[in-house]
Amino acid sequence: MERQEDHLIQATAADSTIRLSAVVSTNLVAEACRRHRTSPTTSAALGRALTGALLLGHTFKDLEYITLRFECRGPVGGIIAEANAHGTVRGYVRNPLAEAESVVPGKLNVGAILGRGTLHVIREAGHEIGLAKEPYFGTVPLISGEIAEDLTHYLATSEQINSAVGLGVYVGPDGESITAAGGYLIQVMPGIDEETLERLETQLQRAPHVTERLRQGASAEEMLLEAIGEFELTVLNRRPVAFKCTCSFERAVNIVTALGEEEVADMLEKDRGAVLTCHFCGEVFNLDEEVLESILRPKVN
Ligand SMILES: [Zn+2]
Repeated sequence: MERQEDHLIQATAADSTIRLSAVVSTNLVAEACRRHRTSPTTSAALGRALTGALLLGHTFKDLEYITLRFECRGPVGGIIAEANAHGTVRGYVRNPLAEAESVVPGKLNVGAILGRGTLHVIREAGHEIGLAKEPYFGTVPLISGEIAEDLTHYLATSEQINSAVGLGVYVGPDGESITAAGGYLIQVMPGIDEETLERLETQLQRAPHVTERLRQGASAEEMLLEAIGEFELTVLNRRPVAFKCTCSFERAVNIVTALGEEEVADMLEKDRGAVLTCHFCGEVFNLDEEVLESILRPKVN
């Protein structure tokens, strides 16, 4: 089966009292896992976090960046997923090789590698139009460490948004290949009537499993249609999403420059250069002698 391009859609139903978004993120999750060389369970955890960041990022108007930071005591130690309004995402895991025994046969035990901990959500807006607002911080304790449940809990308690979040990542039998990833986020608006809400809840209980449908090649729109059953869906937009890091050689030079002259002179003398590795994508930046010397050279105006 040909793999479909990663994409995200936003939609509404029931006179806009239900807001929905869904994403197919197979390729970007596969790339992130390849770069971080993650174990199967860590792949599922990182993939769910990246997919969740994309979905959450698109629920807030005018949002530019969203960071989900899972700080946890389980073997994975911590996960960061950062998404922006342009649909790009990157992530970091503290211990990429963390594993845990499955309790349900055939199901990776993501909750066990996260364990107890906290979810921090940081939302930023306004930078691109020169009106940077104070970032918004929200923090909740982890409910299960399964990520979808934790995001649902976060939305309900910190943002007062009632929602259903479904996330799925399928790791192939080789333990490495990511053959399906994606998810959906369905929110109900404050004005929704009781009957519609009940109908929606009944539908969602019957919704097919996200991972199964993604493996069968379902698109974001199909996932939503099947999740909400009899409701009519109005698709507002469809956009591509991708893995992309914000690191660059220039940024690496800025980081080293910020260490101060003494430190840079020391690197030059002892190591004849500096090597920086980006925690988010694994890219390696080699700053050779010439670069370090140029940092130390007095700036002529
Ligand atoms: Zn990077």
